[in-house]
Amino acid sequence: MITIEKMIQENRANCVGCYGCYNICPKKAIVMKEDEEGFRYPIVQQEKCIQCEACSHVCPVIDSIPEAKGETPDTYAAINEDWNIRRESSSGGIFYLLANYVLKQGGIVYGAGFDEQWEVVHQAAENQAMLANLRVSKYVQSRIEDTYYKVKKTLESDRQVLFVGTPCQCVALKRYLKKEYANLILVDFICHGVPSPKVWRRYRTWRTKGKEIERISFRNKNLSWERYLLLFSFKNNNKYLAEDLNHDLYLKGFLQNLYLRPSCHQCKFCHKNRPTDLTLADFWGVQDVLPEMYDRKGTSLVFIHSAKGKKIFESLPAKKMKTEFNKAIQYNPSMVSPAVPSKNRQRFFDEFIAGQQSIDQIIKENTKIPLVQQVKGILYRVLHHIPGAVWTYRKVRGK
Ligand SMILES: Cc1cc2nc3c(=O)[nH]c(=O)nc-3n(C[C@H](O)[C@H](O)[C@H](O)COP(=O)(O)OP(=O)(O)OC[C@H]3O[C@@H](n4cnc5c(N)ncnc54)[C@H](O)[C@@H]3O)c2cc1C
Repeated sequence: MITIEKMIQENRANCVGCYGCYNICPKKAIVMKEDEEGFRYPIVQQEKCIQCEACSHVCPVIDSIPEAKGETPDTYAAINEDWNIRRESSSGGIFYLLANYVLKQGGIVYGAGFDEQWEVVHQAAENQAMLANLRVSKYVQSRIEDTYYKVKKTLESDRQVLFVGTPCQCVALKRYLKKEYANLILVDFICHGVPSPKVWRRYRTWRTKGKEIERISFRNKNLSWERYLLLFSFKNNNKYLAEDLNHDLYLKGFLQNLYLRPSCHQCKFCHKNRPTDLTLADFWGVQDVLPEMYDRKGTSLVFIHSAKGKKIFESLPAKKMKTEFNKAIQYNPSMVSPAVPSKNRQRFFDEFIAGQQSIDQIIKENTKIPLVQQVKGILYRVLHHIPGAVWTYRKVRGK
């Protein structure tokens, strides 16, 4: 079997940075090292390696499972009707309901939270206070560290576990566990791709300019759910709140696919049938598909992949409405296809690595949108405010 080092040598984009190999190695011979772009890759310390090949076997890319050819998953729009909860959630606040379901039974929730340096790391929550840090999307690749090992220990102690992660992290956890656990609820989300932690670090340093951070939210909803507002609250009572995604450089670069992990552009895990129990997402375009589930405050899109997922979702106290899979994903291509890299990706990283210019300058230069595209964007946004206009516009354009 091919080794993980050979796989990475052949093409760096083969490694998704899931930490499966790091967790499974019986000799702790693998270290995860950040490269110049800021993504972590495994390095095998040869003096400790016993050639057992556990790392190759757990790797979801080397030993990839063919896409499950199941039925189209049941698809729902869902809303957590408690606005206080939904306000502090990325979309419709369904993760919070799932987490509570598990915490109430004495279980543990594993998800991505900030550490003390405001880096994104997977961690456990055993109560409401700990859960707060796991809520809301962090648009940075999260470091799994030894989370799969901890999940297994928790499962074996017969406690319920909710694990939420990117599609590749969920597949890696399944491969690490090697068997099904009735007490595991596995949840992924539609993933556009994960940005570089080093870009996030540099942006954060530039944005804070030495001020002490109290809180960061990538999805502040003060103005609206759709606007992707990045918020930094500082300890001196000041704050930074972007007007919308086009006014925040970091989110602009993220959504233009300027600094996603190379493997995200050839993602093997974005298909309609997934090995998880549920897939969560933002229901983009819900105002056209199910206007009665749209209130500008955030609607979740939920795909059900298993009987366990169905049972749990049905028990959640949320407003739900069934819909059609194809209609629901029409504005969310990442459910079934990888993100195409920005044509400026290479130039961005050449400049980023050279370190001659500040991060804001590099992102600004590489995210300039041509005038024609800007006008089209404005037109589209204006049409969205006129009932039926978007539908007519698409009909006319044959889309
Ligand atoms: C990098 C990234 C890309 C995404 N791309 C899309 C997309 O293209 N289309 C779409 O519809 N939705 C996307 N999402 C998902 C979406 O933003 C919401 O997370 C999802 O709708 C759940 O929202 P919620 O309100 O139910 O829960 P929230 O309270 O927002 O819960 C978010 C959950 O995701 C976990 N999480 C947060 N950040 C990360 C991370 N960096 N890595 C792993 N787990 C994390 C948290 O631990 C928590 O469990 C993406 C999320 C991330 C993190």
